[in-house]
Amino acid sequence: MSTTDTKHVDVLVVGAGMGGICAAARLQHAGVSTLLVEREDRVGGRASTFDVDGFKVNTGAVAIENGGDMEQTFADLDATLDLRYPQPANVFRIKGRTVNPAKGGWAFLLDQITKKGAKVLAGLGSARKGEMPEEQLTLEDWIGGATPNETVHRLFRNLSAAIFAVNADEIPAKAFLTYFMQKGAFRNFGFHPDGTIGVCQAIADVVTRDGGEVWLSSPVTRLHVADGRVTGATIEREGVTTEVTCGAVISNAGPVATIALCGGADVLGAEYVDRIAAASKPSANIIIHVASREPLLDTPGLIVFSATDRICNAGNMTATCPELAPEGWHLTVVYAVPRPAIGEFDSEEELRLSLEELEEELPGMKDPETRVIDARVMRDGWPAQRAASGYELPRETPLDNLFNVGDGVREYGDGGTQSCATTARLVVEELLATRSGAAS
Ligand SMILES: Cc1cc2nc3c(=O)[nH]c(=O)nc-3n(C[C@H](O)[C@H](O)[C@H](O)COP(=O)(O)OP(=O)(O)OC[C@H]3O[C@@H](n4cnc5c(N)ncnc54)[C@H](O)[C@@H]3O)c2cc1C
Repeated sequence: MSTTDTKHVDVLVVGAGMGGICAAARLQHAGVSTLLVEREDRVGGRASTFDVDGFKVNTGAVAIENGGDMEQTFADLDATLDLRYPQPANVFRIKGRTVNPAKGGWAFLLDQITKKGAKVLAGLGSARKGEMPEEQLTLEDWIGGATPNETVHRLFRNLSAAIFAVNADEIPAKAFLTYFMQKGAFRNFGFHPDGTIGVCQAIADVVTRDGGEVWLSSPVTRLHVADGRVTGATIEREGVTTEVTCGAVISNAGPVATIALCGGADVLGAEYVDRIAAASKPSANIIIHVASREPLLDTPGLIVFSATDRICNAGNMTATCPELAPEGWHLTVVYAVPRPAIGEFDSEEELRLSLEELEEELPGMKDPETRVIDARVMRDGWPAQRAASGYELPRETPLDNLFNVGDGVREYGDGGTQSCATTARLVVEELLATRSGAAS
């Protein structure tokens, strides 16, 4: 027979992905009693790490962007962000050569491919000044209007695949350009020597350091709603069912799963539920970890390919963080994006095609000791991006004390874990403002 417990906190945070962890730590640091609950046995969600034969394998994110809300979160929380910064951070594989665009930017990069890149450069320049293409134009059509050059097309496809986990015909040019021309655009990033879980663990530790609680292996099975407000949750933990009451809930499970936890349209209203269901467009990618005796790449940061259809970029993790592999081994992470990345595709076939392409692209794959130690397709409920770029969902819900955080509800044109930290800051600011308004 299961036992039942009760507990009260000011705020319950459902899910210890990047968005949930940042929100919980910010709240507890501000003196709001916070319980962070995670169904997995480790923090981080799609920015976590696990062990395979002594290799530290990431569940998703590897590159943590410098500057912006991620760095600000650590500063605000008085915590240490322990990253190693590869130099150069980003390079490109163009016509068999490794090209570092650091000094010459887009003009230099395009010049390596075609002498007719002027129209692309003019478009990039306009976007930098805020003159954006209309909402409906895809990146593919935008590039098509500027150049027929096949390598330029593949390069832009692989950039949107690497950053947003979509193909060029699946992203509005405006969202792509907003990120590359007006936001961080992964120009500067680091890797964590424990794997990305090290970043998440450091933030989760702030919750407990400042007096809050983090429960792992504890799924929230139900959010309770009464009189237009969320009042608490049912949580399963170590064979005990705990009924938690709280003043507010922040959910990192994604808007669709959060609706289900609340009880669907009967509780949240058909208009909201239908709107979210129609707008929800998760995108997919494939993450492949390869162990080798010799480095597979000749650069320490991330390399974007320009002659491939599926694999988009790769990183030699052990060049900056040798701790990620047993002595005498190297660890390379490779990302691929299926076609299509939004909607239905054949996982097995896409993985096969990606591995085939990888063998062609990296000669070291043929070494008899080189082996794929982990390959997984990220899709549906455990996607690359919970909302494809340009199709972001709202953080607010019909309940004024229930909010979403995470990459499903990021700001337009944002990307990656950085965008999750931003959602956490925005939601916590709103919650704290409401509390101080109520107190005054
Ligand atoms: C292959 C891949 C590569 C990527 N590369 C990068 C990169 O290099 N750099 C970068 O910045 N970003 C990268 N990203 C994107 C980044 O990983 C994600 O945007 C980010 O980690 C998503 O975080 P989130 O806050 O949305 O939470 P999630 O990671 O989705 O976490 C949500 C958490 O909630 C938990 N949960 C759900 N339901 C419940 C419940 N009922 N009860 C309790 N817990 C629950 C889940 O178990 C999960 O841990 C990559 C993503 C993928 C897939």
